[in-house]
Amino acid sequence: MTRRINVGSVPVGGGSPVTVQSMTTTKTADHEATLAQIYALAGAGADIVRCTCNDEGAAEGLARLVPRSPVPIVADIHFQYRLALAALEAGVACLRLNPGNIRNPAHIKTVAAEALDRGVPIRIGVNAGSLDPDIEERYGLTPEALVASAQRELAYFDEVGFRDVKISVKASNVPLMVDAYRMLAEVIDAPLHLGVTEAGPPPAGLIKATAGIATLLLDGIGDTIRYSLTADPVEEARAGRQLLEALGLRERKNVDLIACPSCGRAEVDVIAVAAKAQEAFETRKLPIQVAIMGCVVNGPGEARSADLGIAAGRHRGHLFIRGKVVRVVPEDEMVDALIDEAEKLVAEGVEARLAAADAGAEAEAEADRRALLEDKGDDANASEAKVELIRRTVET
Ligand code: SF4
Repeated sequence: MTRRINVGSVPVGGGSPVTVQSMTTTKTADHEATLAQIYALAGAGADIVRCTCNDEGAAEGLARLVPRSPVPIVADIHFQYRLALAALEAGVACLRLNPGNIRNPAHIKTVAAEALDRGVPIRIGVNAGSLDPDIEERYGLTPEALVASAQRELAYFDEVGFRDVKISVKASNVPLMVDAYRMLAEVIDAPLHLGVTEAGPPPAGLIKATAGIATLLLDGIGDTIRYSLTADPVEEARAGRQLLEALGLRERKNVDLIACPSCGRAEVDVIAVAAKAQEAFETRKLPIQVAIMGCVVNGPGEARSADLGIAAGRHRGHLFIRGKVVRVVPEDEMVDALIDEAEKLVAEGVEARLAAADAGAEAEAEADRRALLEDKGDDANASEAKVELIRRTVET
């Protein structure tokens, strides 16, 4: 269990819900463009947003955007401690300092004392790519080096009685990052901000970030997370939110779309139907699980735990709620019917929508299922016929 701090109105640590962070890519001095991006990030699931504060213009931009932001703003500071003081003046909810590039203890203590006066927390953002040279020389690029860097910075803060910190020990190497956070979690009780730094563009970047962050979250380590992707930051916020929902760490806000991978039994282009449905659901805030299954032979049964689903068969779509078929629609209306039913299900509830099922839908669906089984039998992928053919070819 970590200590709890408050980043503006958002609690971090101490058993609070794990939060999602992202960072703007606009020039902070352009406060209108930055604010537009902050709104987009908040809409995609970010609870906290970081903006760079790299010059005086950026600090002025922060002063203008902070009062209008829908989420708390963290100022990202590198090298110039005076910009940390300027960001505090601008009213940010948190600072992020990199111990690798603000190395003068007097400067660090000045910033900590000022933050203490204002009740603003600080993230100690250790990065494997910018460690103190003496620490790197002593420990090499190891988990011990990342942890030592965080502890050195913590000691400076302790000297001025500043305890409102959260810490990150990021690396682009996933095992290094995981080991460093595990080691750190053993020795401190400050909240931890998780991330795989410079993870790169999706899909590889998403996989690396998820591998590191999810591994730690499942260990019970981590209070706030950021995906560092080389992509529109909206993707970072969305990925963070989706990961927390998938791990059951945050309440579901959007549709959880599940779909079968398709196989020889598929009666429809599952990939195309799932893509169309995903696009349609993206902007709708419907907190349910929806399944798209390629055939009625296995679909409704395999996806019976989904709130809602559709399975294809004989040019028709079988719409089912918790495994019970409620309507049969033409194939080209499958996605529209799914969205329509999803909205009604969220508005009216499962019992009401089951009661509104078309009479005879179950029987129609069962007839389709039987007809398909008769047509294709158990070997829809025609494996046995192919094996026979191969045998005959080899024999002759
Ligand atoms: S059997 Fe049906 S539901 Fe299962 S993967 Fe194949 S098409 Fe999809």
